[in-house]
Amino acid sequence: VVRATPARFASAAEALRTVFGYEEFRGQQQAIIERVAAGGDAVVLMPTGGGKSLCYQIPSLLREGTGVVVSPLIALMQDQVDALTAVGVRAAFLNSTQDAAARSAVERAYLSGELDVLYVAPERLSSESTKRFLERGSIALFAIDEAHCVSQWGHDFRPDYLALSELAERWPDVPRIALTATATEATHRELTSRLKLEGAEHFVSDFDRPNIQYRIVPKVEPRKQLLDFITSEHPGDAGIVYALSRASVEKTAEFLSSHGLAALPYHAGLDASLRARTQSRFLREEGVIVVATIAFGMGIDKPDVRFVAHIDLPKSVEGYYQETGRAGRDGLPSTAWLAYGLQDVVQQRRMIDDSPGDLAHRRRMTQHLDAMLALCETVQCRRIDLLGYFGQPSGPCGNCDTCLTPPESWDGTVPAQKLLSTVVRLQRERNQRFGAGHLVDILRGKRTARVEQYGHDRLSTWAIGDDLSESQWRGVIRQLIAKELLKPEGEYGVLTITPASAEVLSGGRPVVLRREPDRPERAPRASRS
Ligand code: ADP
Ligand code: ZN
Repeated sequence: VVRATPARFASAAEALRTVFGYEEFRGQQQAIIERVAAGGDAVVLMPTGGGKSLCYQIPSLLREGTGVVVSPLIALMQDQVDALTAVGVRAAFLNSTQDAAARSAVERAYLSGELDVLYVAPERLSSESTKRFLERGSIALFAIDEAHCVSQWGHDFRPDYLALSELAERWPDVPRIALTATATEATHRELTSRLKLEGAEHFVSDFDRPNIQYRIVPKVEPRKQLLDFITSEHPGDAGIVYALSRASVEKTAEFLSSHGLAALPYHAGLDASLRARTQSRFLREEGVIVVATIAFGMGIDKPDVRFVAHIDLPKSVEGYYQETGRAGRDGLPSTAWLAYGLQDVVQQRRMIDDSPGDLAHRRRMTQHLDAMLALCETVQCRRIDLLGYFGQPSGPCGNCDTCLTPPESWDGTVPAQKLLSTVVRLQRERNQRFGAGHLVDILRGKRTARVEQYGHDRLSTWAIGDDLSESQWRGVIRQLIAKELLKPEGEYGVLTITPASAEVLSGGRPVVLRREPDRPERAPRASRS
């Protein structure tokens, strides 16, 4: 005998109050909940911390049957189930971490109509046996969390998500709600069609997080800059520091710890139990800083993260927005701080060139990176750029570095020409390519062993650039790479010209650059005083 879990509340407002203890809905929650509770499909684009969970949890309580929630965040399922259980919602999960006994207990509860919410890992749901099992019970709705994972265009594609398109055919009468905090139009369109949600109502929230101050600084000595930033602006605060490699995560955590901060490393190479302990310390203790690769933070609900710092360039604006969105969920002032430099651009372009994917994949990654670089190099309000990327128009925010200390732009055409012509000469006349360091030495007329060895003091561009400092030249090179007027290649990031370089050399294209401070930044203002 199949039993459906009975509906437990008459209205959404009642469930909100009695179960979750909140007086009012936030943003579009009520409209979304009513739509799904009435049996309609919904696509929900809401920023991190916006309150997506209630949008499927409450309809699961209002409808007969069990709400089946697809989530890739296996590590968090236990926490989510515990949180729901604590407020009297009957919840459970099915994923690969369970033993057979635990699994069959959950299955029995589902079939006897004793579950309000069931979390299922996507790889479970793509298996035929799981689908048959679900068919034997009664389903209130399907919630597809982190729905951008179905998008191959997006930054977090998971093949298991593709199988979710089948839900529509197999359960045509069960309402489906897809939720994500990634909001580019391309991703939105793709997830709608892949999940067969053409008939859904779309709920797109305001993506602005006005309490987050966005700052992007030139990277000089990243660890020291990071330490300065934390100790001067966020002493004793909880924060997340993102780095690209495991080695850098460990080094940075050690460095911060050696300066008396409670910093813990977190990456996929560490033992699962250690990772769990780190996560729980971050959630429960005050002022813990986690230094992590991107493996950390998805789905973690800690309201008082006061800063998110990146010491390496994120690969996409989506990723950056999602990671920085983990700061300040409580609405209080918080900082998103990113240090970025020439080496980041060189390294990421190389990673794309070396990546195993096909040409289309590499092109996609390049577009993602270019958008991220444009955000870094912009001379206008960062927020205008960021929200614009998500299709949301806005005005100058007054709470980002470019608003607080407007960067000057300067005419970099002549330095760009000096640099590019040096590269062209070496390439054409001598068939030689070099990295940034040596080119700067030539332009600044610095007699190094390598200059002597190659006779580069006889080049016509020798020493014609001593009006700029070494770090200014590196800034020029970085910005030229960002604008694709120069291209780093190979293991050593040797620089070559691009099709667009010729236009600059012929004087047909002016090069406007962002002026940067010649020394590491000072905070534009104390963020809390
Ligand atoms: P998301 O999944 O969109 O990142 P969550 O669903 O985790 O966000 O919600 C973020 C936080 O906001 C949680 O602590 C949640 O309890 C809280 N929250 C959600 N809805 C409301 C509401 N209507 N009133 C007060 N707090 C809410
Ligand atoms: Zn701004």
